[in-house]
Amino acid sequence: VISDQPPSANDYIHIKASDVERYSYVKRSLGRAISNDELFIELQPQYDGLNNVISSEVLLRWNHPHLGVVNPAEFIPIAEENEYIAEFGLWVCNEACKLLKDCQTQHIDTKLSINISAKHLARADFVGKFLAIVNKWQVPHESLTLELTEGALIRGVSIIQYRVRELAEQGFSLSIDDFGIGESNLNYLQDLPIKELKVDKVFIEAMEGSEQKTLLVTSICNMAKALHLNTVAEGIETTGQLDQAKACGCSAFQGFYLDKPMSISDWRDRLGH
Ligand code: C2E
Ligand code: CA
Ligand code: CA
Ligand code: CA
Repeated sequence: VISDQPPSANDYIHIKASDVERYSYVKRSLGRAISNDELFIELQPQYDGLNNVISSEVLLRWNHPHLGVVNPAEFIPIAEENEYIAEFGLWVCNEACKLLKDCQTQHIDTKLSINISAKHLARADFVGKFLAIVNKWQVPHESLTLELTEGALIRGVSIIQYRVRELAEQGFSLSIDDFGIGESNLNYLQDLPIKELKVDKVFIEAMEGSEQKTLLVTSICNMAKALHLNTVAEGIETTGQLDQAKACGCSAFQGFYLDKPMSISDWRDRLGH
C-alpha cells in the first residue's frame, strides 16, 4: 500500500521487502528532500593534459535520513518520472552558481559543469528559471557547461535542439555526456552549437587490451578535432588508462585515478585555496 504520508523510520523496515516497495519509498521521500535539506553536491575536477584543473563536474547527492547517501543512478530516474527533476536541477544550478560566485569573490578562476536532464530541459519554463538563478548570482555564462546525454538530443528532437541553441546563444557551453553509448546520430554534432564530447567510461575501460577500442577512441577524438570540439575522457581509473586516453588525443581527463568526487571544502583545498 502506497501512502501519501511522508516516510518514517518504520517504513525502512519494509523497504527491504522488494524493489517495488523501495521504489515507492524513495519516490515518497524525494518530495521532501529539498525542504529537509537532504541534498548536497560533490565536485570532481577535470584536468587538461598538463594537469591543470579546467572545470569540475557537479554531482548531486542525497543524504536520506534512513537510507544514507542514495546513489543518483537510483533516484534521478525516479525524479525524472515525477516533477522533482526540475526542482532538483534548479537546486543544483543554484548551488553551482553560489559556489562560482564565491570563487569569483576570492579571485579563484574556475568553471563548473552541471548535468541537466532532458526532461527538465524540455520544459517551457527551463530557460527563464535557469537564467534567473545564474543572473541572481552574477555568474558569467562562460563559466558554466551544461552536460546533456546523447540520447536526449536524438530522441528529444526539436525542442531539445531549440534549447541547446538558445543556451549557446546565451554563452553557456554545451557538452554531450556518455558519448558513444546507445544510439548515435552524428548529424547533430555538426548542426548544433556543441563544445565538448565526454567519451563514456565504457570505452576508456575497454581500451586496455583492445587495439580496436583504442582505435575507436582515437577516431572519436579526430572527428571531434575536425569539428572543433573538446573531448573529455571519463572514468579514468588507472595511470595506464590516462596514458592511453592522452595517446588517443583526448583533450581532458576525469576519473577516480585523478580525483574522486569530493566535498566542497576538499575541492577548495584541491584547487589550492
Ligand atoms: P555521469 O554524468 O556520467 O557522471 C559520472 C559518474 O561516474 C558519477 O557517478 C561519478 O561519480 C562516476 N565516476 C567518476 N569517475 C569515475 C571512475 O573513475 N570510475 C567509475 N566507475 N565511476 C566514476 P554518480 O555521481 O553516481 O552519478 C551517476 C549519474 O547520475 C551521472 O552520470 C548523471 O547521469 C546523474 N547525475 C548526477 N548528478 C546529477 C544532477 O545534478 N542532475 C542530473 N540530471 N543528473 C545527475
Ligand atoms: Ca555528466
Ligand atoms: Ca558521463
Ligand atoms: Ca552516465
